[in-house]
Amino acid sequence: MARYTGPKCRKCRRYGVSLCGTAKCAVIRRPNPPGPRSVRRRKISDRGQQLIEKQKVRFAYGLMEGQFRRYYEKASQRPGVTGELLMTSLEMRLDNVVYRMGFGRTRAQARQLVRHGLVAVNGRKLDIPSAAIKVGAEVALTERGKRSDYATILKSEIGSRSVPGWLDLDREALAGKVVAAPGPGDYESYFNPNAVVEYYSR
Ligand code: ZN
Repeated sequence: MARYTGPKCRKCRRYGVSLCGTAKCAVIRRPNPPGPRSVRRRKISDRGQQLIEKQKVRFAYGLMEGQFRRYYEKASQRPGVTGELLMTSLEMRLDNVVYRMGFGRTRAQARQLVRHGLVAVNGRKLDIPSAAIKVGAEVALTERGKRSDYATILKSEIGSRSVPGWLDLDREALAGKVVAAPGPGDYESYFNPNAVVEYYSR
């Protein structure tokens, strides 16, 4: 029997991409959407497709609808391309920065590290996953985090994880720096931020 992989992979299968971020995602084994065939094959309207695109991004970053909408609203009030501003603000969340540095295998695991007080920003513990990180910030495991059993495991795994260009990581020290703001192309190519904007702006 296949092991139960939880409701998250139901979302992965619904949207056809691995939103949970794990190597054992059910979407790889069962790429068809969950539910009866009639549900799987229904034709999708433009509005329905925009909803799907919004949900994909929202579930991937692990946000509730209200929180996610606030990211959109803030982005829409600033000059520039709203979809890109939205993605940049999501990418600059502390839990995501920790994930991109390779400190966690998934965003969910990265968020746990933050919540458990194992992450420091500019030398001080910061346990708020939603904290907005700025360019120039140093993000590292806390001293307690570096002494933890997790750090031993992490050091053996982090060498094989790729880190995006907007981050500079010292794998030995388990510390990194945000050297630039993430831009277009720094998020997964299956995200469609323009469709997210269309969903909210109509
Ligand atoms: Zn999954």
